[in-house]
Amino acid sequence: ELDAQLTVFEEMESAVRSYIRSFPTTFSKAKGSTMWDTNGKAYIDFFAGAGALNYGHNHPKMKEALLSYIAEDGITHSLDMGTKAKANFLTNFNEIILKPRNLEYKVMFPGPTGTNTVESALKLARKVTGRELVISFTNAFHGMTIGALSITGNSFKRHGAGVSLNNSVAMPFDQYLGDEVDTVDYLEKFLEDSGSGVALPAAIILETVQGEGGLNVANPEWLKRVEELCRRWDILLIIDDVQAGCGRTGTFFSFESADINPDIVCLSKSISGYGTPMALTLIKPEYDIWGPGEHNGTFRGHNLAFITATEALNFWKDDEFSKDIIEKGLLVDEFLKRIVSQYPELEGEVRGKGLFRGIACGVEGLADKICAQAFEKGLIMETSGPSSEVFKIMPPLNIDREALNKGFAIVEASIKACLK
Ligand code: PMP
Repeated sequence: ELDAQLTVFEEMESAVRSYIRSFPTTFSKAKGSTMWDTNGKAYIDFFAGAGALNYGHNHPKMKEALLSYIAEDGITHSLDMGTKAKANFLTNFNEIILKPRNLEYKVMFPGPTGTNTVESALKLARKVTGRELVISFTNAFHGMTIGALSITGNSFKRHGAGVSLNNSVAMPFDQYLGDEVDTVDYLEKFLEDSGSGVALPAAIILETVQGEGGLNVANPEWLKRVEELCRRWDILLIIDDVQAGCGRTGTFFSFESADINPDIVCLSKSISGYGTPMALTLIKPEYDIWGPGEHNGTFRGHNLAFITATEALNFWKDDEFSKDIIEKGLLVDEFLKRIVSQYPELEGEVRGKGLFRGIACGVEGLADKICAQAFEKGLIMETSGPSSEVFKIMPPLNIDREALNKGFAIVEASIKACLK
């Protein structure tokens, strides 16, 4: 049986390139913050499906809801037709998420995945303003289709795809030019100067914490100033909350602490709660000018995803969940700060916010080695940043403290092993 499994694994390795190299095993089961492989080895999950599993694997309430929906022959696929599952989700999303935050958005289902919401946001911003340029930021990650890729600040990912779209410009993110340069003033200078060649954009798109780009956190004041700039110039502000949203930074939307009101918000990954593909584009009502059928897609608005997503919203009925994320985030921060001071050879810098944290290692290749060691020792962890220099700690948000501490111990043991 093992031979057969190994053959399957080898076949998978040739077919699926990336994660299978970082996590060389065949997984068969997962629950909460633990994954098991076919040999029965357990792994603590500090990766959470790159932010798609904020409520852990196979959450019992979501599983139950899904199983009973299927048992009752609930509709799975329905394109844009009205269904009970969709109506329930929309009502609850409005009541539990939008209303208490004084946010008013129309909800669009742009397709099954994160890139789809970004593409719809770019298209809509261009349609609303009649302008073409989109401004994004250094080290941004917005997805892998040509439009989203054009605003992704990663030359490795872009060059492989050939020529990206015109009409996108990357500006320096908060702190990219150090403390000395205010990058909002910098951006405004380009807009004011007709000789700069930077036209008035349709939109500015950003992540408040750049997940793939190395856990770079935008300060709330910077976000506020970007919003003010958008209002001054009549530019739409798009927040890509695909990875930083759904509680990852401590609040449901990552921009809540900055008290801004984006024109368009992109959500995906954990919005369905169960790893079931789903994406939402939230649009200020006055900008919902799509014509019927103007932006469609066969698998958008999937009912199985609505069932789990509706269940996931229950986490947000009061402040307890948010408080718990923030508390555990501080434990991670404390742990990482101790690691950085105890192991100066790491040349480490603590990055991130909420349960979206990590260490940028000054030594080339070290973060990857630490993750490989951690995998051996039973922990799933990924890197990010332009040279994979940051190892990320992003467990399911409902991880218990015992699993969190076990994970910390593996991270520290892995660092020790790598520095030997
Ligand atoms: N935006 C952000 C901020 C992301 O982190 C990602 C995925 N890592 C995407 C968009 C693209 O999402 P997907 O991979 O689901 O298309």
